[in-house]
Amino acid sequence: MTFAEGTVDTAVGSRRYRLVWPPEFPLRPPVTWELSADGADVIDHRAHGYTFRDLSLCLFAHDPRQGWRPEYTAGEALDRLVAYLEQEAHGEFPRIEDIPLTTDFIRVSVPLSIAAALRQGGGWGILTVRGRKDGRLLRVMSVDGTSPSPIITRPLEADLEAPWVAALGLDHPRQGLWCRINKTVEQVPSSRHRLEGWIRQQLPNEHARQLFMAQALILLVLNDGLRFVLIKAGTTPDTNPEERLIYVEPFEENLEERIFRRVDDRLGGVGGLQRAQVAIVGVGSLGSSVAVVLAKAGVSKFVLLDPELLDPENVARHVGGVDEICLPKVEVVSRAIHRINPAAEVVQVQAALSLDPVGWGKDPTQHLIEVTRHPLGIIVCATATTEAESVVNHLCVIHACPGIFTAVLGRAEHGRVFRVLPGVTPCYQCVLNAQYAEPGRFPRFDRVDMGVPAYQQQGLPGLGMDVEQVALITARMTLQTLGERSEGELDYPKAHGDHLIWSNHGGWAVDGPLQTRVELIPRDRACPVCGIGNELPLSLEEEKELAALQVDRLKRS
Ligand SMILES: [Zn+2]
Repeated sequence: MTFAEGTVDTAVGSRRYRLVWPPEFPLRPPVTWELSADGADVIDHRAHGYTFRDLSLCLFAHDPRQGWRPEYTAGEALDRLVAYLEQEAHGEFPRIEDIPLTTDFIRVSVPLSIAAALRQGGGWGILTVRGRKDGRLLRVMSVDGTSPSPIITRPLEADLEAPWVAALGLDHPRQGLWCRINKTVEQVPSSRHRLEGWIRQQLPNEHARQLFMAQALILLVLNDGLRFVLIKAGTTPDTNPEERLIYVEPFEENLEERIFRRVDDRLGGVGGLQRAQVAIVGVGSLGSSVAVVLAKAGVSKFVLLDPELLDPENVARHVGGVDEICLPKVEVVSRAIHRINPAAEVVQVQAALSLDPVGWGKDPTQHLIEVTRHPLGIIVCATATTEAESVVNHLCVIHACPGIFTAVLGRAEHGRVFRVLPGVTPCYQCVLNAQYAEPGRFPRFDRVDMGVPAYQQQGLPGLGMDVEQVALITARMTLQTLGERSEGELDYPKAHGDHLIWSNHGGWAVDGPLQTRVELIPRDRACPVCGIGNELPLSLEEEKELAALQVDRLKRS
């Protein structure tokens, strides 16, 4: 360990110091202590809050204009030490005790939707809070209900000045208790002596009261606001507990608006996408990436269908992480969407789409029918299984709802994205018919393994990147289709076709790798799903249903 000891002259007398160079020097400054005159003791400056836990002095602010720079030397640290000691002697540092108990300049930024969820939550639980390294951010890492109330895992944030991070003891992660109290902010006792007893009274059971006694940091979730309360913590929370209490004012904001205004500054367009409802059938590697890209574009209503759980071998190509293994894929993708937009509405349907009857009220197609009835509804089918694709095709054609069919084929060598606009483009069945008539034209029929989805086969390392590229084309086609339906609100340049074939190597589907080819396929007049050439006479019930649908469609347009 490299260190130096010596004395410096200050306006308030000669002072002894010790500097220790950390292993990270020069990226980090020397650690600096003031010593007693004989060098035997470290002088304690904790009363001012500009001190680290090891009693070394905080000489360099995190502000880049005043902070430490790698080109500085120990001389800079000594200059700062002199200034620190002189300022302190002149009373220029606020003492922790002098910080007012109530303040209105600290604001907790809480998305409206989360604040509402917190207030409805009831009960109580544990939370973890940590000040960001630069000392400006307070973050509730997770709020896990240990009572039967809902588990809230979304972050709350607050801008905090460095002295407050020190005062709240948040330079290290800190556990606390949150509790929902059916009172208003005004009803909270202003006296810190009465407050402790008051909170204990409000807690629903003995377990919560025990936890309350063990925790110093309390988040009160009140009817009309949030309050952070710090109890029994002072300048030296570990050794010298001193009763203290600090309020932090909540500041609710429309986080969703800020997310999208910041990136695109065109909330009008995003507004159109926020109204849209996108169903994604199959949220494996391909479908999950489509969902995340659409969420980033501003789509905020999703219906996700998938029967599977996330397996370890999925992680390399899926948006899910190791900590989500064994969770349903629909939940994993829902989390990924909420990480981007906490206010997104996601319906999770952990089921496969199949032609087998599953019983009244349990049929997952019900959720898709809801989407087809939505004026800006669209179904993305990313299962690459003929059965699910066929079900989606029928739903789209019957309910006049656009559908996007996407698949990565072979060892992710090829991707196919095509859309079905009922009455305009060929439907999925028309495309199948064209494939049967001319197999060499389509990757799926070119080789035996082409019909097997890429994620069921071994491939090159990094195969997930090819999946991502097809996912991007799919998401883009989805946005373009929503744009065309939103009456000019969103004006995406159009792909020059409805059927795109992508390849990661040239010489077959396209002349070079990483290109997309447009395949023009005519509508099949004799198609049993969308064709008009071989219509069977309808039964009376079917006639009625069709008439109702047409009225419904007229109302929409
Ligand atoms: Zn058809």
